[in-house]
Amino acid sequence: MNTSTSSPWFQPLSSLSRGKKTKTIESLEAAGFHSLFDLLSITPLRLERVPSVSSFKNAHIDEHFRGVGKVLNIRKNQNFRVFGKGRTPLSNITIVVEDRFQSGAILQLKWFNCYPSLAKKLNSLEFITFSGKVSFYQSNLQITNPEYLEIDQSTFNQDLTYWSEINPEETLIVYPTVNSVSPTHLKKLFQKISPSLWSEVPETIPEDILNRHNFLNIQETFQTLHGKKGVPSEDQKLKATERLIFEDFFNNQVKIKYRKSIINEKKGLPHKVSKDKLQEYISLFPYKLTSDQEKVTNDILKDLQASSPMMRMIQGDVGSGKTSVAFLAAMTSIDNGYQAALMCPTESLALQHFLTIHDLLKDHDIRVGLLVGSMKKKEKESLYENLENGHIQFVIGTHALFQESVQFKKLGIAIIDEQHKFGVNQRIRLVEKTQGAHCLIMTATPIPRSLSLTQYGDLDISSIRSMPQGRKGIKTKIVHPKDFEKFLVFIKTRVSMGEQVYIVVPAIEESISKDILNLEETLKRFEHFFPDLKIQGLHGQLKAQEKNQVFLDFKEHKIDILISTSVIEVGINVPNATTMAILSPERFGLSSLHQLRGRVGRGEKPGFCFLVLDKKISADSMERLQVIEQTTDGFKIAEEDLKMRGEGDIFGVEQSGSTKQDLASLLTHSYLLEIAVSEVEKLYQNQDPFLIKKIEELKNDPHLSKTI
Ligand code: ADP
Ligand code: MG
Repeated sequence: MNTSTSSPWFQPLSSLSRGKKTKTIESLEAAGFHSLFDLLSITPLRLERVPSVSSFKNAHIDEHFRGVGKVLNIRKNQNFRVFGKGRTPLSNITIVVEDRFQSGAILQLKWFNCYPSLAKKLNSLEFITFSGKVSFYQSNLQITNPEYLEIDQSTFNQDLTYWSEINPEETLIVYPTVNSVSPTHLKKLFQKISPSLWSEVPETIPEDILNRHNFLNIQETFQTLHGKKGVPSEDQKLKATERLIFEDFFNNQVKIKYRKSIINEKKGLPHKVSKDKLQEYISLFPYKLTSDQEKVTNDILKDLQASSPMMRMIQGDVGSGKTSVAFLAAMTSIDNGYQAALMCPTESLALQHFLTIHDLLKDHDIRVGLLVGSMKKKEKESLYENLENGHIQFVIGTHALFQESVQFKKLGIAIIDEQHKFGVNQRIRLVEKTQGAHCLIMTATPIPRSLSLTQYGDLDISSIRSMPQGRKGIKTKIVHPKDFEKFLVFIKTRVSMGEQVYIVVPAIEESISKDILNLEETLKRFEHFFPDLKIQGLHGQLKAQEKNQVFLDFKEHKIDILISTSVIEVGINVPNATTMAILSPERFGLSSLHQLRGRVGRGEKPGFCFLVLDKKISADSMERLQVIEQTTDGFKIAEEDLKMRGEGDIFGVEQSGSTKQDLASLLTHSYLLEIAVSEVEKLYQNQDPFLIKKIEELKNDPHLSKTI
């Protein structure tokens, strides 16, 4: 798996147990730890100094202490019982001991919930040696659940030299539990690693990089973290951790280069671009492209003409017009004799795109198809056939599009809408499935730099920052309970002007049935407020077909007010719907609120978004809502969200596959990330043999899933 396999660190774990695969080793292998080297990344949770026996005056709170004492008295407190087979009385036992080495000093030892057998043993103690962590309880120093050993009087009388010989100072190492392998078992496994190996851990990062940034080398790092040099100071620990985090970022960047090199090695399907044809398609839109749309379209056209497949992401706020750009890309590919596929995260979105595109192409002889999960088997089969024989040129669908059973005759471009619902792994699967086809990914969620570096480093990114002109924009207002009546009047007025309204209720995570109940209650309330209006409820548990029907009805204005859980969050486009009310808005994330309100104010009529409070909310929540009230800049909102909640929440789904560090640490360690990015980029530019070798290793690594 590694070319430096000569190092003993690359031996399998079973080399620690004479070639046998013990249970411990099996569990560790199942968790992805195969070699001794892999094991190194399991670092102890705690490293503590356990001193040799000394006088009680050396017992300090929160530190380990070892002492020898004479039992003065024993208190037993039988406070509760377990009722099982024959009620077992449990007791708490406190023993007060007097110091062997400091006359009169005492310490309390305490055991909770002792079974009778232990209670009996403790009860008969006279002289003991003990160790444990010191705490402070009711003006006494105390050790809870200490380790102890009964001794006889003559041992008790031994001096400190005796004790330091039989129990010298040592380092207490507590490993975490890994895939149900206990800390004790891990510790035993580590003890089997020959001490001389610790100075031979093979270095993974070029020395000049380590020197340039003053990072520890790998031997020092692991010796420090695994307690091989005693208990490290906070500074030493920090330095070692920093090196590991850097290494993680570094390796992640290497993987990104690996993915990039895989993409670059593939030959992209050659495309020619005809300016006239492009103009013809642009003229299908009832509007002029914004300059950002033009710029991004050009980026894409350049990619389509390059020798390796496109891997580009378009980043643009809700309503910035990403679909139009995607449409132009698809049509270019189709003009070149290929098929185009547009994948959406939900059926309703697929349906909507299908209708829009169908409509745009009504005067063209382009065969457009739709593939969603809820279609009948027969319909699907006929579509599969038409994709395979190349009859369908433009297909729109959900992820059903990229299942095994779907074969394209000549797929030229795969477009993914609302990328943040798909993870890194799905992206790679897509590349594999599409064999040299070009990939375009669209996302409405602005991507903070740290994430774009770690998760999307293999993608080229284009941004649409400006909004189409003529948008009347959105007004957002927080509605306090006292203003609820006014809010109802406003809704009524808008509907009487022929406009439509969304009402969004928060999803109740812990229970789907509560969710539906909540929705139905809201539905009843609003039916009561507006008995003459057509009101319809919509929630995630409806069958896809039912949902689609509701969306179609709403689009065709058969419904005035759509009451929905946040299923409408992504991409739905009904220009006549001008008003949105979000109930209990404090329960949504900022990015969600922003995405939601992006549904309104898309057409020529101004949009309104109401954040409707039904109770007093905390000052913090209010501050968050005010961000939404005051700005519609998606980038600003994403930043605020990031500050308030950490990056993980913005993307929610599949975060795995990039770095082991959690995303919160991306923020605090962004300086290390920047170093990793620039150092690996340098290696890449220079085609440094180190990096080339690493990439080869990744290609040949049997343990590495293809989908890193
Ligand atoms: P998103 O980026 O959220 O996917 P869409 O592509 O759905 O945005 O576009 C949102 C709305 O803006 C659509 O109704 C679309 O017709 C319209 N639109 C797109 N580009 C322009 C433009 N250049 N000028 C005016 N309206 C546009
Ligand atoms: Mg969209």
